[in-house]
Amino acid sequence: MRILVSNDDGIYSPGLKALAEVARSFGDVRVVAPDVEQSSMGHAITANRPLDYRPAPILKEFAAFRVNGTPADCVALGISQWDKDVDLVLSGINLGLNLGNSVWHSGTVAAAKQALLLGVGAIAFSTEVGDEKPDFENLKQQVTAVLKLLMKGGEPHLYNVNLPRRSRGIAWTKQSARSYDGKMVAATDPMGRRHFWFTVVPLTGPEPGTDRWALEHGETSITPLRLDLTDQTELDRLRLLHYPTPDNSKTGQSERL
Ligand code: MN
Repeated sequence: MRILVSNDDGIYSPGLKALAEVARSFGDVRVVAPDVEQSSMGHAITANRPLDYRPAPILKEFAAFRVNGTPADCVALGISQWDKDVDLVLSGINLGLNLGNSVWHSGTVAAAKQALLLGVGAIAFSTEVGDEKPDFENLKQQVTAVLKLLMKGGEPHLYNVNLPRRSRGIAWTKQSARSYDGKMVAATDPMGRRHFWFTVVPLTGPEPGTDRWALEHGETSITPLRLDLTDQTELDRLRLLHYPTPDNSKTGQSERL
C-alpha cells in the first residue's frame, strides 16, 4: 500500500508529521506538501508558471518533498512522480476544522479531492485548535481508528474527517450547508486607507446529523463527499417543466432553441 501524504498548512506543520507517522503503520509513505502555508486556497492549481519539488529533510523518517505550489498541485505532482501507483492520499492534519461551508475553500479537502479526480481514494483530516496545543498523540489514535474503518479497498472514495480534541465516538455525517457564515469587516490601515477582513462567525446553530453537529458534541465526524455538484432535484424540476415528455425528462435531450 503506497500512501501519499499532503496538506495545506505547509511542509513544516506538526499536523502533517503526525499524519505521516500514522500512515507509516499502514504502508509506504511519501510526503509531498506546499513549501509555505496554502490554507483557504481551495482547489487552485498553478497553470502560469512551472512547478518544482525539493527534498525536505525536516521529516527525516520519510521521503518528503516541498513544492512551490498549491495543495492540489502537490497531490497531482506526487501521484505523477511516484514511480509506482499511489493507493491512497491522506491530507492534513489541518490545524483548524473544515466543517460545512469551509469545505468549499479548504485546501486540505481540495488536496484529497484532487486525488479522487485522478482516480485515487483520499481522506482529509482537520482538527480544532484553540488556546491549548493540539494533543497529537490523541489525534493519532483517532486517525488510526478512522483509517481502520475506511481502508477497506474497493472503489475509491473521498472522505472529509474532522477530529475533536478528545473524541466521544465516531459520527457518520453530512456536510452542513444551512447558511454561509462569512462576514466582511471594514477597518483602516496605518495610512488611513479602508481595507477589509473576511471573518467567519457562525450565524446559526448546527443541524442534527451534520459535521458541525458532531463536532459540537465532541464526536469524530466522517463525511463522504462526491465530485458531482449537480443539484439533481432542480435538474429534474427543470427538465419536467420545460420538456415534460417522459423520454426527455430521463435523457436531458433538449429542444431546438
Ligand atoms: Mn490549513
